[in-house]
Amino acid sequence: MQRPELQQQLLLHQQQLQACHTCPDMQRPVITGNPVPSRVLLIGQAPGIHEAEVRQPFGWTAGKTLFQWFAGIGLTEAPFRQQVYISAVCRCFPGKNPGSNGRNGGDRVPTTEEIMNCAHWLRHELALLQPDLILPVGKLAISRFLTLKRLQDVIGQCFRHSVPGHEADIIPLPHPSGASTWHRMEPGRTLLAQALATIARHPAWQALLEKQQTPST
Ligand code: SF4
Repeated sequence: MQRPELQQQLLLHQQQLQACHTCPDMQRPVITGNPVPSRVLLIGQAPGIHEAEVRQPFGWTAGKTLFQWFAGIGLTEAPFRQQVYISAVCRCFPGKNPGSNGRNGGDRVPTTEEIMNCAHWLRHELALLQPDLILPVGKLAISRFLTLKRLQDVIGQCFRHSVPGHEADIIPLPHPSGASTWHRMEPGRTLLAQALATIARHPAWQALLEKQQTPST
């Protein structure tokens, strides 16, 4: 598919996604990244309360950490958002855990039914984008592609995976949430560095960096 046609398809997809009301317990709005034709696809878990307010994925503290990681391998937040399609397992804020400490409490984990409800949106994005590199962030997103028991079994590695009509490389990342200490302690810190180094060497990532240097192409 040519880039203008793909862009149109992605815009149409996101318009339809914005109108989704399938899950009664999810809090709207639907949060999406830019409808950018990209061979690199980042997949988060679900937006938090602040992402719902600023209306962009990874738009708060976890995002700051995530974009620091990517800045360390050459791509800061603004060009990342312009060049990488950001998807998620669920696109709506699930709400806080019942009984949690208001806005500062933990987010409710989406139910299996909600994850299944939202899965077809991701499948359609995979089919449209045909990504060469997929970056699932956090256990929920990694589990969409890999059997996962412990993060240390998969972080720092690259996996080949079939997506509809296509083969892609999957490099999983831990969730950058401040509530998680995994990526700040060993072995998480070393494995995260390995994962980022693997992303940095990937041809699809290298293509993003080259495009950043020649934005008119
Ligand atoms: S979580 Fe996904 S399937 Fe559920 S209402 Fe939001 S967009 Fe629709």
